[in-house]
Amino acid sequence: MKNLKIAIQKSGRLNEKSVQLLKNCGLNFENYKSSLITTVANFPLEILFLRDDDIPEYVQDGIADLGIVGENVIAETEADVRYLQRLGFGKCTLKIAIPNHSETKTLADLDGKAIATSYPTILKKFLDEHGVSAEIRMISGSVEISPALELSDAIFDIVSTGGTLRSNGLKPFADVMASEAILISKNGIDSNPVVRELMQRIQSVLRAAE
Ligand code: ATP
Ligand code: ZN
Repeated sequence: MKNLKIAIQKSGRLNEKSVQLLKNCGLNFENYKSSLITTVANFPLEILFLRDDDIPEYVQDGIADLGIVGENVIAETEADVRYLQRLGFGKCTLKIAIPNHSETKTLADLDGKAIATSYPTILKKFLDEHGVSAEIRMISGSVEISPALELSDAIFDIVSTGGTLRSNGLKPFADVMASEAILISKNGIDSNPVVRELMQRIQSVLRAAE
């Protein structure tokens, strides 16, 4: 039988905790920064190291059987995957933020305004649900700077401590989505015995950490 594959982030905020979780499950593997794929010595599993943005689609398409990725990225890509387990790390909140002196008081005040974000799909869904028609400006990085540059009236981005907002003269306005790292699988794979064994180990690691 072919080894199962799990996709985790190659480098970034989720990499270290994803590697640690798998090691705590008793999996023995080399964590070479330069390789894209590594084989676990004592478990029928291969680990793929990818950009987080690619993980939901790789799992949906069956290139990887499992993945560890932020819920925000799953929601943004709208990939058709199954949530197997919430992992309790990588917690953050996606918020709309506005300039400190903005006259925006209610969601309806965002009608006709421009909102900059790297998460257009999640934002559009939220605005549609609340009957707000704002213009969504897709920006891939440094979204917080866009109101100061008069590129937007508000932003929608990941906020953890709020420090980046403050240093850019912005304040939180609306919480849209809470996110954490999730173990995902392609649909229908969770009855696989190797997946079940891994799930049991992950759950006992999570319980031990409680
Ligand atoms: P990649 O190079 O893999 O595309 P990235 O730059 O898109 O990485 P990171 O900044 O490493 O992503 O964040 C990965 C995930 O960590 C986010 O998608 C989110 O789920 C989570 N996260 C938790 N806290 C934060 C935070 N303060 N800022 C950004 N992401 C956070
Ligand atoms: Zn990314």
